[in-house]
Amino acid sequence: MNLAREAIELLGQVARILWFEGTKHGMRDREWMALRFLSRANRFSRTPSALASYIGTTRGTASFIIGELERLGYVERTRSSKDKRSVMLSVTQQGKKFLARDAVNGLADAFAVLDDDSKLRFRDTLRHVLDQADAAEQRHHTDVCKRCIFLREDRTASENKSTVEFTCRLFRASIAEAEIELLCTSFEHHRQ
Ligand code: SF4
Repeated sequence: MNLAREAIELLGQVARILWFEGTKHGMRDREWMALRFLSRANRFSRTPSALASYIGTTRGTASFIIGELERLGYVERTRSSKDKRSVMLSVTQQGKKFLARDAVNGLADAFAVLDDDSKLRFRDTLRHVLDQADAAEQRHHTDVCKRCIFLREDRTASENKSTVEFTCRLFRASIAEAEIELLCTSFEHHRQ
């Protein structure tokens, strides 16, 4: 029995739940992918270029997808007060509500019933596979700050309290603790 190949065949069929022909609830698979990503991305990655990079498409196609999501009222764009050319995308309340219909929720529910060790093993296995694919193709997948080479942690301890502050050395900006769990397309992990 070839366990590796069997696992990949199953993974491919799970992926078919996310990639489909036509529309589901009025949106195509790439629009679902974009809305899902924007709801989980950190502030550096909620931009048209980061979205294009995550979906693996051109800026033109990403703009078209953003336009569709805006038309449906699920995404809005704001311009930076410092640089008017810079755009930040955000999922609206209506978009967040619509995400309750996402097919991913069914997958998440199926994982949720597993014990914590199984969930951790599954997540780490997928990361291992992506890390190997990244090394072979000289790229970096999208992931969270926690594993990123650019994250700096400064710990301070006083009498009865210890605090930790996070900084992104790439963007030269502070990162709130809640943000380190969000997705970033500029993520890089240590190569072994
Ligand atoms: S530390 Fe890494 S993952 Fe986090 S914001 Fe900076 S580049 Fe992105």
